[in-house]
Amino acid sequence: MARINTAAGNWKMNQQPEEAYKLCSEIENMVKDEVDSSVRTIICPPLVYINPLRRMVSKDSPLKIGAQNSYPEPKGAYTGEVATAMLAEMGVDYVIVGHSERRMLFGEVDDLVKKKVDAVLENGMTPIFCCGEPLEIRDSGKHLEYVSDQISNGVSHLSDNDLQNTLIAYEPIWAIGTGRTASPEQAQEVHKEIRNFISNEKGKEIAANITILYGGSCNAENAPDLFSCEDVDGGLIGGASLKARSFVDIAKSF
Ligand code: PEP
Repeated sequence: MARINTAAGNWKMNQQPEEAYKLCSEIENMVKDEVDSSVRTIICPPLVYINPLRRMVSKDSPLKIGAQNSYPEPKGAYTGEVATAMLAEMGVDYVIVGHSERRMLFGEVDDLVKKKVDAVLENGMTPIFCCGEPLEIRDSGKHLEYVSDQISNGVSHLSDNDLQNTLIAYEPIWAIGTGRTASPEQAQEVHKEIRNFISNEKGKEIAANITILYGGSCNAENAPDLFSCEDVDGGLIGGASLKARSFVDIAKSF
């Protein structure tokens, strides 16, 4: 698996049903018409829209469907959760795992995040593993160690093959939804550290093949500079993925 330039949209808990169907169809049409076929595009809508959107977007469309979360157990008494296996059955290709909002608002700890990564891979889908430091860690200058620990706890245990099938999204928490994006230099520093860390653990070739996305107030204006950094392979996009034009412009920024 080589590195693939990727634009992934995280819709979070947004969009009414008709808006979601319209947004998806606009994005799919624009992607087909305008985005280079070497670029991977993914949308991660709220769970309730996955099945209808999965039916709208054929499996061989250049636009792929992802989920924002899943639970690792195959079935059982887990009220309100959705099994990873159920998403696989629906034809989902990607699952965001360990987003900082899940970690902070819903108490997801490293151990659960690791189980989720395993379950996504076991079910034949690709995890988008999120990591990133809060502001106080950035201010203390310990952000590189913090992110390396998250990588170590979340994905270091994977086989070479599984690791290369995993997307990593570096999302500094202070940049998410704040309008304060990391500078290209700040993003590149951490992406390079992630690649070095994986290189030390698994070897240079595996590290060179991993796709590492940046997330945090990425938009059509700042994407070209961020995506031109050597170790930045695209973005996980929140707010700017809710407008077809801006999301597709981001996907055209490579
Ligand atoms: C996100 O939630 O993954 C994200 C990057 O959000 P935003 O682009 O809105 O900062």
